[in-house]
Amino acid sequence: MSVVNEKLPVWDLEAIYKTPEDWEKEFEKIRPVTEKFAAFKGKLGESAETLKKAVESSLELNRLTEKLYIYAHLTLDQATGVDSSRARMGKLQSLLAELAPQEAYFVPELLRIPEEKMDEFLKVPCLAFCRRFLEEILSERTHVLSEAEEKLLGSYSQVIGLSSTLFDTLNDTDLEFGYIRDGEGQRVKLTHGSYRALMENPDRGTRERTCKKLYKAYRQFRNTFASALDGTVRRHAVKAKVRNYPNALCAALNGDRVPESVYRSLIEAVHSKLPAFYNYMELRKQVMKLDKLDMYDMLNPLLPGCSQNYSFEEAAQLVKDAVKPMGEEYGKYLELAFKERWIDAPERQGKRSGAFSSGCYDTFPYVLMTYKGTLNDVFTLAHELGHSMHSYYSKITQPYIYSDYKIFVAEVASTTNEILLFEHLLSQSSDPRFRAYLYAHIADEIRGTIYRQTMFAEFELFMHETVEQGTPLTADLLNKKYYELNKLYYGPAVDPLKDIELEWARIPHFHYNFYVYKYATGMSAALKLARNLRSGKPELREAYLGFLKAGCSKDVLDIMKDAGVDLSTPEPVTAALDYFSEAVECLEKELRLCGEI
Ligand SMILES: [Zn+2]
Repeated sequence: MSVVNEKLPVWDLEAIYKTPEDWEKEFEKIRPVTEKFAAFKGKLGESAETLKKAVESSLELNRLTEKLYIYAHLTLDQATGVDSSRARMGKLQSLLAELAPQEAYFVPELLRIPEEKMDEFLKVPCLAFCRRFLEEILSERTHVLSEAEEKLLGSYSQVIGLSSTLFDTLNDTDLEFGYIRDGEGQRVKLTHGSYRALMENPDRGTRERTCKKLYKAYRQFRNTFASALDGTVRRHAVKAKVRNYPNALCAALNGDRVPESVYRSLIEAVHSKLPAFYNYMELRKQVMKLDKLDMYDMLNPLLPGCSQNYSFEEAAQLVKDAVKPMGEEYGKYLELAFKERWIDAPERQGKRSGAFSSGCYDTFPYVLMTYKGTLNDVFTLAHELGHSMHSYYSKITQPYIYSDYKIFVAEVASTTNEILLFEHLLSQSSDPRFRAYLYAHIADEIRGTIYRQTMFAEFELFMHETVEQGTPLTADLLNKKYYELNKLYYGPAVDPLKDIELEWARIPHFHYNFYVYKYATGMSAALKLARNLRSGKPELREAYLGFLKAGCSKDVLDIMKDAGVDLSTPEPVTAALDYFSEAVECLEKELRLCGEI
């Protein structure tokens, strides 16, 4: 069935607010609800009962603003050009910015309640519903400074983030890359948005020109990019020091209560499995019939022209069949995504590009994507519905206060769905070319998510340790280290062009704070969980559903452990890379069968 003639699903946003006027009515509540919450300022330490009311009031405010925000953001993303939607979002954002100072008292004031008094409060039953929530804030107590020091730091808050702002402005606004002539002679403007598509272009010359042109611009501003990064990393290091953490890594991981060893052992585990990655690079090289691969030979599909076309209905059925190992209840809830119209799939003028799952406690967990019928779109559908089902289970199981899962586990459910889809499609096909295509797909996913993100994580650690030892980050230093890491990770089949040394300059995540390793641990966990689910053992399935239901009611490592993955050991990562190794062997076998090598 052709996708062109098919009616694709569109969101039911009336389920949030029947009309835009209803949104307006609810919007009017923000100010009084904020004032109600602000009235507790200076009173948190009065009694457990008062603290309970303040927490409830804060939750009421969050819940209200989240729902208003989701409606504003989804109506806007559906068609970004509509003035009324832009105005709605603008209005909400400016009110929230105006009211933010009124809410800012809560955490600092809570932290100033004397420890003994707080311990007594926490024993009072009326605070049981939010004990974990409060304890999580209070665990920061040893890292909080005196009131005067906090005030002084607070007055610098807008200055402190300037290095990241500088990066964003230079990278997103000022930097111009010019034009590229692609393999078909078309002149294409090179932008951050078009870069990825150009790097997927089957024409090698186009990819090479794109890569060189892009890095030419970065080379010109390399010292400014290095200064910005130096500023960001220095900020993390200083923050760790003044707040009594042993180092920046420990400070960054503390929020998730993840020990440093998890981070360091991820890097070690990936190093021990680099030979499997070298094998994959060797295979790519053979299929592409090259003497050496270059860095611009990574994103082009290994087997072009191999993808089939799927109607949306077929895609939905594939996803439903693929997640059967999760059991009947999961299947029943998944049906709601289609029946209640959680998904917006058609291509539309002004629709936000890409794909996401987004919602809150009082809305459906909506999915945005542009469905064109490729196999990648089917994977995207499985992925985003994985997020949505995670949100749905957490929402129906947890009270509002613990319903929102943390970033650390955010990609686990979505990736598990993708892996189950991959395995399902494999089991359905005996065509070696299609099977090779699938194996290459999963190998590329693991390459991008585990190997590449761990390389980023290692680079991030190098930058922080360098600054902590008192050495400033210069462009030369960063180039040298980045190039070495590329050589190490990609191995003998790849001869990286010199320009790749500048890639660090364009990665926004390096201005986050030890963030990317979560992609690698998340996918490793997903591979293990998918295997558990496929075993068909009911207790393993229940453990998986327990993870979906957990929200943020426990520490992330405990949630994963209860689900069947112990991320405090390197085992899940090594097992994931063994899976990768097997996938590469299977890929080789299928490639031989279809005569590609
Ligand atoms: Zn995702």
